Amino acid sequence: MCINQLFVFHPVQIDFWYPDSALHIVNQMEVDFHVSGDQTKNVESLMEQNGMHYEILFQNLQEDIENQLVDKSSTGKHSYTKYNDWRKISAWTARIEKRNPALVSRIHIGNTFENRPMYLLKVGKQSDAKKAIFIDCGIHAREWISPAFCQWFLKKATRTYGKDTNMTYILDNMNFYILPLVNIDGYIWSWTQDRFWRKSRSNTSDSACAGVDLNRNFDVAWGTVDASKNPCQEIYCGTSPESEPETKAVTTFIRNHLSSIKAYLTIHSYSQMLLFPYGYTYEKTPNHDELNELAKGAAQAIASLYGKHYNYGPSAATIYPSSGCSDDWAYKLGIKYSFTFELRDKGRYGFLLPESQIKPTCEEITLAVKFIASYILSHTS
Ligand SMILES: [Zn+2]
Repeated sequence: MCINQLFVFHPVQIDFWYPDSALHIVNQMEVDFHVSGDQTKNVESLMEQNGMHYEILFQNLQEDIENQLVDKSSTGKHSYTKYNDWRKISAWTARIEKRNPALVSRIHIGNTFENRPMYLLKVGKQSDAKKAIFIDCGIHAREWISPAFCQWFLKKATRTYGKDTNMTYILDNMNFYILPLVNIDGYIWSWTQDRFWRKSRSNTSDSACAGVDLNRNFDVAWGTVDASKNPCQEIYCGTSPESEPETKAVTTFIRNHLSSIKAYLTIHSYSQMLLFPYGYTYEKTPNHDELNELAKGAAQAIASLYGKHYNYGPSAATIYPSSGCSDDWAYKLGIKYSFTFELRDKGRYGFLLPESQIKPTCEEITLAVKFIASYILSHTS
C-alpha cells in the first residue's frame, strides 16, 4: 500500500513536502510529509499497521521553526547568511542599487495580489548588452533558501566584479535580470502565519481557500497534468493561465526582453536537482542532448565545491510530470536554455534548511550559474 492510499481510508490533514502532492506518490517511493502534533500518534500507528518504514525527522517541529526565527526581530540587520524577511529584502533591493550605481539598477515590474511592489535587479556593466540571463527566486513561499540565493548571487556579482576574472568577463558582456522574490505575499505568510505555506495569497475564487500555485499558472499545457482546479489544493493552477499578477509581471517582463534573454533559471528547493524541459510531457526537447550536457557540467561545478550530488535531467522523467510551470513556458517562448534548480537538501531538514547551510548552498549554486553564463556567452549569438 502506498501512503496516499492509506490516508484515503483514514483522512488526516497531510502537508506533503516531497513530492509536493499526493498525486506524485508511487509505490516504493520515499515520501516526506508533515502532520500536526495531535495526529502524530494516529499516523504512526497507521503506518505501523501497514508495515511502512518511517523515520521522524523533527521531534519538535514548532521548536525548530521558532529557533530559526530567533534574532529575527524587526531591528535585526539584513544578512546574506541568514533568512531575511520581506521588509529587509525590500530595503536591500534599494540599497544594493544605491551602492553599485554603475552595475545594478532596480526595476519595478508589477505588484503582487496584495499590492506589494515587485522589484527586479538588473546587474551588468553595459545597459544594452545583447545577452541576458533571467533568474527568479521564491515562486514557492516556504522555500526560503531560494530568495537567499538570489540575494547571495547579487552580493557575489557586485563584490567580485573587477576582482574575479570570470565574473568580470560575464558582467562585462551580459546582464542578469534577477527577481529576488516572486511570491512576496506568500513569503510574508510563511513568516507570520504558516511556515510551510507554498502558494500565493490571492483569493479570487468563491472558495474559502486562498492562494494559487504560481508554478502551475504559466501558459503552457495549463491545467492538464499534475495541476488542480480545486482552490484548496497545494497545486491549484488558478482560474486561467497567467491569472495571477505575480505570474503576469514575470511573463510581461520576459516577453518585453525576449530578444536578449538567452537563459531562464528558476530557483526552488528542495531535493538537489537540476531540471530542464519538458515537465508537461515525456517527449524530449529538440536540444535535449545539449541541455543534458550543460546540466551535467553545472552539476559537476556544484559537486566540485562541497561534493554535493545534484541529479539532473528533464523534469517529467527526473522528478515527475507537471504543467503550467515557468521553465516549460520560457522554453516554449523561445528561450532555449531553461533550468529549474532544486537546492539543498535531500530531506533531512527540507524547507527548514539550517542557516549554517545558506553560504555553502549559495556558493555551490553560484558556480553552476557562472558555468551556464560562460556557456551562453560562448555558444549563443
Ligand atoms: Zn518550488
